[in-house]
Amino acid sequence: MTQHKSYIVGNWKMNGTQADIAILKAIADAAGSDSAVDVGICPPSTLIAAFAQAAGGIGIGAQDCHAKASGAHTGCLSATMIKEAGASFSIVGHSERRADQGESDADVAAKAGALHEAGMGAILCVGETLEERDSGNAIAIVTGQLAASLPASTSGDWLSVAYEPVWAIGTGRVPVADDIAAMHAALRATLTDRLGAAGAGVRILYGGSVNPGNAVEILAIPDVGGALVGGASLKAETFLPIIQAAP
Ligand code: PGA
Repeated sequence: MTQHKSYIVGNWKMNGTQADIAILKAIADAAGSDSAVDVGICPPSTLIAAFAQAAGGIGIGAQDCHAKASGAHTGCLSATMIKEAGASFSIVGHSERRADQGESDADVAAKAGALHEAGMGAILCVGETLEERDSGNAIAIVTGQLAASLPASTSGDWLSVAYEPVWAIGTGRVPVADDIAAMHAALRATLTDRLGAAGAGVRILYGGSVNPGNAVEILAIPDVGGALVGGASLKAETFLPIIQAAP
């Protein structure tokens, strides 16, 4: 498998105001020049431009984009718009959007394809609900979700995948290491099946209640290429130790 640097990304969700640029600066000052790990932060869209200006070595991403380049889509932003604002990548298919906005796998594939076309990176999120985990079919469900959410493309260098069990997001609950390892191995197989050799180089992040106390253990699990961090990315005191925990 192609070895990559760890990738630690903060997802600020619907949190943050201009005053919080101080938090970004504190993170950038401490970790922006760390060449051993790639760090990203996805603020709300209103802060992308200001964050991109202050980001230092931190990559700034969006939390979503529209699949189309322009048109009558009130309230939406295209990949080229978020790129112009300063984002170099975007999260797509986060479970909160799949649930709240009813995004389908096909929608997610189209969004990821739009990012690729715009020359941007994508972090494509997949993950099972608690009911799906309890059914014993989580691996089949989540690999199916990934296969259906991948855009048609032969190169993998623009793409990362985030495995985020819905029941682990914001709950303080985390799967046992063996379950994370098994899911990441299955997602890897799906990626190499679809993308060939390029699939081996795609980083697969874990997300869901990653915090300074569990980051070392989670990031040491085989084929965990980094973390997508929600709540603990909102403060430098909790995000920096996670960055430092990256192998
Ligand atoms: P959490 O969120 O770290 O607050 O659980 C992760 C995410 O939703 O990306």
